[in-house]
Amino acid sequence: MKITDVRMEMFKWPRTKPITNGLYTYTHNLLNIVVIETDEPEITGIGLSGGIEVTPEVGAAIVEHFKKALVGMDPLDNERIWHEMWRPKLVGRRGVTTRVISGIDIALWDIKGKAAGLPVYKLLGGFTDRVDTYIAGGYYEEGKGLKELAQEMEDNVRLGATAVKIKVGAVPINEDIERVRVCREAIGPDVRLMVDANNAYRHYQAIEFARKAEKYDLFWFEEPVEPDDYIGQAEITRATSVPVAAGENEYTRYGFRDMINHRAVDILQPDGLILGGITEFMKVAALAQANDLDIAPHGAQAVHIHLVAAISNGLILEYYRDTVDPMHGKIWEHELEFKDGKVHAPDRPGLGLEPKWDTLQEFRVG
Ligand SMILES: [Mg+2]
Repeated sequence: MKITDVRMEMFKWPRTKPITNGLYTYTHNLLNIVVIETDEPEITGIGLSGGIEVTPEVGAAIVEHFKKALVGMDPLDNERIWHEMWRPKLVGRRGVTTRVISGIDIALWDIKGKAAGLPVYKLLGGFTDRVDTYIAGGYYEEGKGLKELAQEMEDNVRLGATAVKIKVGAVPINEDIERVRVCREAIGPDVRLMVDANNAYRHYQAIEFARKAEKYDLFWFEEPVEPDDYIGQAEITRATSVPVAAGENEYTRYGFRDMINHRAVDILQPDGLILGGITEFMKVAALAQANDLDIAPHGAQAVHIHLVAAISNGLILEYYRDTVDPMHGKIWEHELEFKDGKVHAPDRPGLGLEPKWDTLQEFRVG
């Protein structure tokens, strides 16, 4: 088989309302779909690149750069292709270029699955076919007070959630502790509760927050500080009984090697759409296994379901529901079903991602 074309289709649409985490406000949703055509007309690879916040022209130019090397190569040779794209001196070791590499690599795995007639999670290891899943949300929104936050958590539990996550870090610590208290009361003692600061704190603030939050039995404290502050993360990890999680802003096996060497966090949160694709994700998963660390991937449930299901140290899948995105449930032909706190891995060949191109068309930006 040979690659005949590589392109990125970029879409953007407004959210139901702007959502805010510890540091940022998001008014729109982005979707970057990498499409790889092959000389077998029935086999096209679909991949996703993590939130590329640059102009569509920049994204397209990076794809074009890689395309020159890729056309004519066998799409099944993912290790070779990754090596070919990875020219750190020329295209950078992190950031947008690695996110594009990620989308290309994910599309290659989709092709591999389609060629083999197997879902990707089976190709990668098939550890299980149903994984624990948590509902992420609890953003700051205009008009959303403690009562509305509690209502959101109760709705999550009613949907079958056994684990939920909220944002912290945008308001004074004591105010956030109050939000945590209200959520714990809303979900009861047996549902897992996580908090995510999205890098909003300095390490001493994070330690203060964690110690004050300990009594609410947190399952993890996510991204307390800047992603490059491994020593700060390690200090927080040692200072509190709350497990610390991070990794969604980390790149490649090298970044995760450094995090692990610092024993920076208790739980690793790689994002295959960001760190370098599925090929690289599996290497991170193996590094984590060699250090008895669990993996709880960041976002992108449609891709990460395959990766959590494939590995023995897949802790839990992150899942976004319909609360903040008007397009939830309208983008893919087949949606994952969240039931009893779990999600089944799709059994279609490849990743099982079929974009509804007609619906997406009006949101095209590139
Ligand atoms: Mg996060």
